[in-house]
Amino acid sequence: MLLPPSPKGEFGEQYFDVLNNKTIVAEQNAKNISKSNTPLGDGGKILITGAAGFLGSHLCDRFIKEGFQVIGMDNLITGDLKNIEHLFPLKEFEFYHHDVSKFIHVTGKLDYILHFASPASPIDYLKIPIQTLKVSSLGTHNCLGLAKSKGATILVASTSEVYGDPLVHPQNEDYWGNVNPVGPRGVYDEAKRFQEAITMAYHTFHKVDTRIVRIFNTYGPRMRLNDGRALPAFIGQALRGEDLTVFGDGSQTRSFCYVDDLVEGIYRLLMSNYVQPMNIGNPDEISLLDFAKEIIQLTGTKQKIVFKDLPTDDPKQRQPDISLAKKILDWQPTVNRAEGLKITYEYFKGMPKEELNKLPKEFESMK
Ligand code: NAD
Repeated sequence: MLLPPSPKGEFGEQYFDVLNNKTIVAEQNAKNISKSNTPLGDGGKILITGAAGFLGSHLCDRFIKEGFQVIGMDNLITGDLKNIEHLFPLKEFEFYHHDVSKFIHVTGKLDYILHFASPASPIDYLKIPIQTLKVSSLGTHNCLGLAKSKGATILVASTSEVYGDPLVHPQNEDYWGNVNPVGPRGVYDEAKRFQEAITMAYHTFHKVDTRIVRIFNTYGPRMRLNDGRALPAFIGQALRGEDLTVFGDGSQTRSFCYVDDLVEGIYRLLMSNYVQPMNIGNPDEISLLDFAKEIIQLTGTKQKIVFKDLPTDDPKQRQPDISLAKKILDWQPTVNRAEGLKITYEYFKGMPKEELNKLPKEFESMK
């Protein structure tokens, strides 16, 4: 059962102490969010799951700027309230602490749902594989049921991981992928493939208005420094004065999209009427070895690059074919890697010292 936070609610005093403290800081930061002068949409009420995470929090910001009433929902398993604390004082924003793998209830009308709740980094989903499978299967089912009952349009966050270790390059939406269902990454990849299948089934059989975005590696402020993804890992190592770790020989490639570009693509996809899966990402591909060298140059670190064994099923190459997004949404990335990295590095540099040495997140279920 979903309950909005209240000081005597079911989540305990400690939780509300955190919320209250965050709210004070949030009031000081609220001025940073102002409404856009040129809203693209005509507003409405939107539920964003995974709101306290990296992408979810940026989406909350964007939809508030566009004049929407936003309900952020999150169980905080990998997310952090500090990503959305600046929104708490706004009347356009509500936060529900809830696990979307359980039944979701929202009162009143609802126009849109963005389902972004899911651990996204291998270091997280390898530690919480069952929760990862549940949030993209049961969680997606719950979100689709809610969309059906409210007549809402729903967009689900899929991933380039549905292509697995791709045998086609660059990857376009017609490629069906090369995924090992029982490998360690299968818990994420297969959950997302199921998510796409059930979303399409709700569209076909229940006529729910659906969108599927296949997101390629995205970066920017509010990523966690210790979440194991290449970009924060390299920057964290540089800031701590450690050597930069490259897995394998570093010839595997990735294509990094700056978060503002991704959010723009998602906004346009939601407002379109395109129901088939769509890639959103930046096709500017780079090997991880060259990327580590770029980070060394950016940060000015004197450390060197060290090599470790490649993890199982690590994809060798990743590059989105974004022809469809260009054609249907008139969208393409506008922030180049040098610009985006500079902004992201400034964000990490501004973090309190203790954040730099924080260990990767541990989870209750592991103890
Ligand atoms: P994140 O870990 O920063 O955010 C995920 C959020 O979902 C967290 O706040 C977490 O607490 C919440 N969450 C997880 N399980 C939940 C549950 N059962 N109920 C409620 N909340 C729950 O990750 P992110 O990078 O922001 O990714 C967001 C979405 O985008 C994910 O669905 C991910 O698969 C997808 N995606 C991200 C990327 C990327 O590069 N960041 C790439 C492809 C796909």
